[in-house]
Amino acid sequence: MGINRKGSADMNATVDQYLCIGCGACVALCPRVFRMGEDGKSGVSQAVTEETLSQVQEAIDSCPVTAISWLEHE
Ligand code: SF4
Repeated sequence: MGINRKGSADMNATVDQYLCIGCGACVALCPRVFRMGEDGKSGVSQAVTEETLSQVQEAIDSCPVTAISWLEHE
């Protein structure tokens, strides 16, 4: 299942909907990847690219409830 293509990002982020308190920090840090849903919880709206990787890492480090984590594809 799933063939990794060379050049594509091997990592993506995910938000744990149960942990997220909707503070908005991740959306402020990286609006290209994180988006606030109608339920007031953040979600990942775009795949992580090389350009947004460091911003996503910042969001992970800044999340007060550590709801964001990397998803690593094998
Ligand atoms: S920083 Fe964490 S708690 Fe705040 S909106 Fe993003 S995922 Fe939710």
